[in-house]
Amino acid sequence: MRAAVLKEPKGQLQIEERAVPTPGQDEVLIRVHACGICHGDLMVRNGDFPFVRPPIVPGHEVAGVVEKLGPGVSYPPQGTRVGLLWLFSSCGHCGSCIVGDEVLCANGQYVGMTRDGGYQEFMLARADNVLPLPDSLSFADAAPLMCAGLTVYAGLVYAGFKPGDKVAVVGLGGLGEMGIQFARAMGGRVAVVSSTKQKEGRARELGAEKFVHEGTEEVDEALRSWDGGADIVLQVAPAPTSANAALRGLASDGTFSLLAPVPISPDPFALIMRRQRIMGSCSGSRKDLRATLDLAAAHGIRPSVRCFPLDRANNALGELENLRPSGRIVLLMDA
Ligand SMILES: [Zn+2]
Ligand SMILES: [Zn+2]
Repeated sequence: MRAAVLKEPKGQLQIEERAVPTPGQDEVLIRVHACGICHGDLMVRNGDFPFVRPPIVPGHEVAGVVEKLGPGVSYPPQGTRVGLLWLFSSCGHCGSCIVGDEVLCANGQYVGMTRDGGYQEFMLARADNVLPLPDSLSFADAAPLMCAGLTVYAGLVYAGFKPGDKVAVVGLGGLGEMGIQFARAMGGRVAVVSSTKQKEGRARELGAEKFVHEGTEEVDEALRSWDGGADIVLQVAPAPTSANAALRGLASDGTFSLLAPVPISPDPFALIMRRQRIMGSCSGSRKDLRATLDLAAAHGIRPSVRCFPLDRANNALGELENLRPSGRIVLLMDA
């Protein structure tokens, strides 16, 4: 089988021929059909995570089919179309694990970071962290839900989202497009904040009722003039200036949900007087991925994807890094 391998930080991926791995205890072998490319993969390649030790096969937005069951596994059966958590495994007994928040486990292993991920034709996964895909989702449409979709869904839910809430999505890349669609499907109202005026059409097509063009408008004033401000800000763009402006556009009792590592400088007086919260959120657990997939299937939530063959993984990463496309890039193994 072919695998795209990162041999050293900041290096190019190399396509290698490898033996198809054998699933161990509690593992399944997955035939990968599609793997989305995430900003996290660029950070892996660029050596931004000290716990990632190459050689490693990146990729944690995986959709494929269960090819073989390891010892002790009875579910999901061979032939099931599945998606995977970013979390490869967790301890199973800490406080987070026992309440089903296993993504918060301090002893996790991570797909495409500490375990070989989806930039290859076959990979291993823990049977527990593999979920069946709804029939209506193609592999290419499902793959970006495993990180981008799950991240925005969890970012909304754990911010205390309620139907009718006004959600400001800051940044309209792959995550932002998912953010609009999930917030709308869950009964929210959406404003998009972007420095690219040309993205207004796409924002409105996906259901945003308001578009704030950073550059010609004051973001904080524009948000506060939106019936008192945003109940939730989903900060998906790695852009400190927009983040801090959007933070000042929060409504009373609003929550600022940080999904990208951006330095922010809150005004403590505003936080106190308006009883606001700032939180961060990263990916999600099995219960969150189940809900993400079910919502996507029920409401027709689809990422806009551009597909590349596995052999062009370096080009695909370069495109994400340099062009900041509005949709999501997906590697297809059989393209
Ligand atoms: Zn744990
Ligand atoms: Zn990701």
